[in-house]
Amino acid sequence: MTCLPEITPGQKKLGLVIDLDTCVGCQACATNCKEWNASGHSGPLPDSKPYSAGAEGVWFNRVHSYEAGEGERGRTVNFPRSCLHCETPDCVTVCPTGASYKRIEDGIVLVDHDLCIGCGLCAWACPYGAREMDEDEGVMKKCTLCIDRIYNTNIPEAQRQPACVLTCPTSARHFGDLGDPESEVSKLVAERGGQPLMPELGYNPVNSYLPPRNRSSAAAAPEEAAPTPMDIKNPLLRWMDKVLTRDPMAGAPQARRAESGSQA
Ligand code: SF4
Ligand code: SF4
Repeated sequence: MTCLPEITPGQKKLGLVIDLDTCVGCQACATNCKEWNASGHSGPLPDSKPYSAGAEGVWFNRVHSYEAGEGERGRTVNFPRSCLHCETPDCVTVCPTGASYKRIEDGIVLVDHDLCIGCGLCAWACPYGAREMDEDEGVMKKCTLCIDRIYNTNIPEAQRQPACVLTCPTSARHFGDLGDPESEVSKLVAERGGQPLMPELGYNPVNSYLPPRNRSSAAAAPEEAAPTPMDIKNPLLRWMDKVLTRDPMAGAPQARRAESGSQA
């Protein structure tokens, strides 16, 4: 069992804010994440059968696209998924070796690959399917918020952001300190009604999602609000729960915690 750092007021909480209204599902963030992390702190990120059927690999960021609503209210919602750097995640506490840990100085959840024994318990404990087993090395890997970029003084300051944020062509991804109410990301969350993913699970995700805006035609209609994946009763979220289940070819366990009461 590994302990989490004590939560103190004003603590730095680095994380992402992702705008589901402007994400176009182009996969640029996932691709640049793979590109950067394959050769950095977490690399290599192996692929299996990359050019044939059953292709799989280690990807820290995966983007799922699905249809929501019907008729005029129908739309495509693109949902990027990666580690949410939760405040109270069981992925850390279940780790028997201390390999999985949460940094007190900025809240980033990391894995010490030298201590990891590849037991996979953390993947079972993550309800968001955010852990990736490197079958070649036999260790667990995951999003680090590009820790080797954001503190890298050898690159220009403006580029000290996660690779996914830098590459997004629609600026749907934002990075900053969600523990500071005056930060740009915190203001964005307040303005747009940003929400954590499945807060009822008690993991207290730091990352936040900005819900899709009403389309103008739908806004004029005296009907219920545009569908949002934050609503646990919404079929969207139930669908998303299914999507968060990993392909067994990835060698990673399935996210099961989310299933209770939320399966379509
Ligand atoms: Fe752990 Fe999953 Fe939360 Fe990341 S998203 S901190 S892997 S529980
Ligand atoms: Fe800890 Fe590694 Fe096991 Fe995950 S796979 S619980 S990080 S030892």
